[in-house]
Amino acid sequence: MKNIILMGPPGAGKGTQATDLVERYHIPHISTGDMFREAIKNKTPLGQKAEAIIARGDLVPDDITVGLVKERLSQDDCANGYLLDGFPRTIPQAEALEEIGKEIGRPVNAVIDISVPEEVLIDRIGGRRVCPKCGASYHVRNMKPKVEGKCDHCGSDLIQRKDDNPESFKVRLENYYKQTAPVSDFYEARKLLRRYDGQGDKTRLQKELFAFLDTL
Ligand code: ADP
Ligand code: ZN
Repeated sequence: MKNIILMGPPGAGKGTQATDLVERYHIPHISTGDMFREAIKNKTPLGQKAEAIIARGDLVPDDITVGLVKERLSQDDCANGYLLDGFPRTIPQAEALEEIGKEIGRPVNAVIDISVPEEVLIDRIGGRRVCPKCGASYHVRNMKPKVEGKCDHCGSDLIQRKDDNPESFKVRLENYYKQTAPVSDFYEARKLLRRYDGQGDKTRLQKELFAFLDTL
């Protein structure tokens, strides 16, 4: 059973690792950040509520986020497991997820916590470019696309995320240390947490994650 959470500060590489994990394990990639960005793009009521909050780097309120995840986890494609990326980010979200897991009979059984030093995060976020269509992530120096400015997967023009600016990043990082770091302790206490080093090349971490998750 692979009911997995990916945790780590903004820029830790959660989204990059998630793409390869879901392909290997055939489980859905549930990224609350991607879900919010999709809602913003489609100008839904949720998107309108979330847009300014996300642009300044703050967290979307727990009730809204929990509702969204609950609905998503109840869908059929989660029957064989799921990979949560960017959720839970607060203790109330972690508590709510525990309830949801019981209700749907699929409790979380592994929490991957990726850590990266702050100066590396700053560089990664500053150089990050993303595909607005398929969500793929690149870096202007460390993870260049094959053709400059274009997505390898779908050819779309790459953009910089609105919240990938120094001011919003600072807020995101503060929120991470204040609100999200305690969530690691929550899972540590439940003996579900495993810590990984997210520095360097993505394939080294990927190998380590495969080696562990293959055993679940
Ligand atoms: P990153 O990990 O790079 O900061 P995400 O794509 O995971 O980015 O999230 C982008 C933004 O979406 C967050 O800064 C926050 O505003 C909002 N968001 C995503 N997940 C959550 C969550 N679980 N709770 C509250 N807000 C969230
Ligand atoms: Zn793309």
